[in-house]
Amino acid sequence: MQDQVFGPNSNKTDQNLLKPSSEGFLFYFYVANGDFQFASPYLCARMNLFTKKRPFIISGPCGAEDEQQLETVAKAFINSGIDMIRAGVWKPRSRPGQFEGRGEPALGWLKHVKQISGLPVCTEVASKEQVELALKYELDAVWIGARTSVNPFAVQEIAEALKGTSIGILIKNPINPDIDLWSGSIERFKQFGFESVAAIHRGFSSYDPSTEYRNKPMWALPIELKRRHPELPIICDVSHISGRRDLLSKVAQRAMDLNFDGLMIESHPNPDAALSDAKQQITPEQCLQLISNLNFRSGQVPPGLQEIEEIRLVLDSLDAEIVDLLGKRMEMVRKLGAIKKEYNIPVYQLERWQEILNSRTSWGEKNQLRESFVFNLFELIHDTSIKTQLED
Ligand code: PEP
Ligand code: MN
Repeated sequence: MQDQVFGPNSNKTDQNLLKPSSEGFLFYFYVANGDFQFASPYLCARMNLFTKKRPFIISGPCGAEDEQQLETVAKAFINSGIDMIRAGVWKPRSRPGQFEGRGEPALGWLKHVKQISGLPVCTEVASKEQVELALKYELDAVWIGARTSVNPFAVQEIAEALKGTSIGILIKNPINPDIDLWSGSIERFKQFGFESVAAIHRGFSSYDPSTEYRNKPMWALPIELKRRHPELPIICDVSHISGRRDLLSKVAQRAMDLNFDGLMIESHPNPDAALSDAKQQITPEQCLQLISNLNFRSGQVPPGLQEIEEIRLVLDSLDAEIVDLLGKRMEMVRKLGAIKKEYNIPVYQLERWQEILNSRTSWGEKNQLRESFVFNLFELIHDTSIKTQLED
């Protein structure tokens, strides 16, 4: 038994080296005489596909449009550090008459690019029938889109259709910011014991014309999801949060700073001509450049201090939201100031100030905030608002 080579890292890699069993993977030895020998009772713990590398990066077009498009993307990603290719085959569109995906033929193209690139491939599924087709074409993973993860019936149907398979499963957050609904979708998959499950944070829809994002990131929600499911990898879908190219780097860097496990970024050989989500797609080369410009926090935290680091990251993100809100508040203050000027209404009104103090301090009390803290904070905010209105 000389020259033994083990399992998945063997350069004699063969499907037979890894045999799934109910507890994990049974490892086989490759022995010099060319035989495979069962390495009983050596068992390796199951491994989640999405934690094999950090950050785990998924890229590819919003929608599979033709075979050539997918081939161009796949070739650009060979040995590039990209871990999986994505492409929507059935596209859920807000309005009828738009590009709705190429359907089954596109699954064949995905299978083909998997063969030529050696990279795993994934697509979106929204029904039992789509799951069956994704399995027929041997896709490596499927994602549940934001318009599907809102619907417990659909999620349950998909989970049941996937039962017994070892395919990777990615669960996007629902379009509305409902942490229980997102967590509930994940629990529906967890109950069947799938090994490769991850969540995708793609931001939340809102009617807020002042936001720069297509879908607001609301970072506190994925952070809460991680608290509830600490073992669950979370991948940030930078493209659907941003909705436009110039925000992609900022969002990707924020996700890395918050310790996300991976990124999903849409890429297309000719983004401006894309049949869906043209404004947010970049070329595969731009995608690789974006990733190489990211700062991956690799500083080692002394053992036991991991929690401190995590809490600080949460604080950074909450403070960023507070500052954004203060900016928005000041914008409204200016608008109000202009109206007061037009109608000759005095800038400072004692009753209004009293009302602000009373309501804010009582909200503070409900959040365990000391009265003096809320008082001082709003005194500063109100004072600055009055000054701004007087100066404008
Ligand atoms: C997509 O990934 O192309 C997509 C449609 O995503 P979402 O469900 O996040 O809108
Ligand atoms: Mn898209």
